[in-house]
Amino acid sequence: MQEEEIKKLKEAGKIAKQAVNYAREIIKPGMPLLEIAEKIEDKILELGGKPAFPVNLSIDEVAAHSTPSWNDTKNARGLLKVDIGVHIEGYIADNAFSLDLENSEENKKLIEAAEKALEKALEKLDLEVNLREVGKVIEKAISIRSLQAIRNLSGHSIERYNLHSGITLPNYDNSKNLELKPGLYAIEPFATSGLGSVRDGKPSEIYVVQKTGNVRDEFSREVLKFILEEYKTLPFCSRWIHKRFGSRGLLALKRIEEAGILHNYAQLIERGVGKVAQAEHTVLLTIKEKCVTTL
Ligand code: MN
Ligand code: MN
Repeated sequence: MQEEEIKKLKEAGKIAKQAVNYAREIIKPGMPLLEIAEKIEDKILELGGKPAFPVNLSIDEVAAHSTPSWNDTKNARGLLKVDIGVHIEGYIADNAFSLDLENSEENKKLIEAAEKALEKALEKLDLEVNLREVGKVIEKAISIRSLQAIRNLSGHSIERYNLHSGITLPNYDNSKNLELKPGLYAIEPFATSGLGSVRDGKPSEIYVVQKTGNVRDEFSREVLKFILEEYKTLPFCSRWIHKRFGSRGLLALKRIEEAGILHNYAQLIERGVGKVAQAEHTVLLTIKEKCVTTL
């Protein structure tokens, strides 16, 4: 990796961390999710980055892939996961934390488990370390608290403009032998009081371009052009399209989706309807250094 690229990755990490600190400051029980997402995304822009994906605000048994719609009326409550991504010219940082907004012992225990698991995994993670060993420390930190690690959610390698670039960092010992190589990795344990796996729920407001294609009407073409230029291969949401183009934009988005050009992410729901806590950091591994860019 070039010095210039490393500099941008670290800068993105710094902004992602500041966005997390800002989110921790402003989020209060009962605050509209829409206001939270917009404030955090504005803060990222103000700090000189761009959102690498829409701020995810997922409550209780919803583990991930939930972002407010443009006219959302839901409020912050329960066990809230806040997942924030930042990029600078495609160089990404991905981090997340969880908040207990109802003063619940169960929530506190879940959050502690996810955070401890992340801490242990960050200690373990290094070049030539076997990925299943990292998974093992995550699973252990969660299971000693009599909770479950979610097995079908995992950390991931990251490349430029590519949030999930192919390598999976398991949250348990998956008995596959794969040594860590230089690169950028997000590590994200999920702890639950449920069954330890997620299923697809209803469609979210989050999309990504999955293939090229054509739409017939001129306005939809204009919206698609904007999506390709602005978000490229990174996830975006209907709220952002509404902000730019108004309600016409949402109709165009529907047409573009119907043309098979977009993938819509389903919300991810814990199978046993158990509450879920998440913690996440991004780590840069080079021959010279191990740097948690979001710490
Ligand atoms: Mn994330
Ligand atoms: Mn991630």
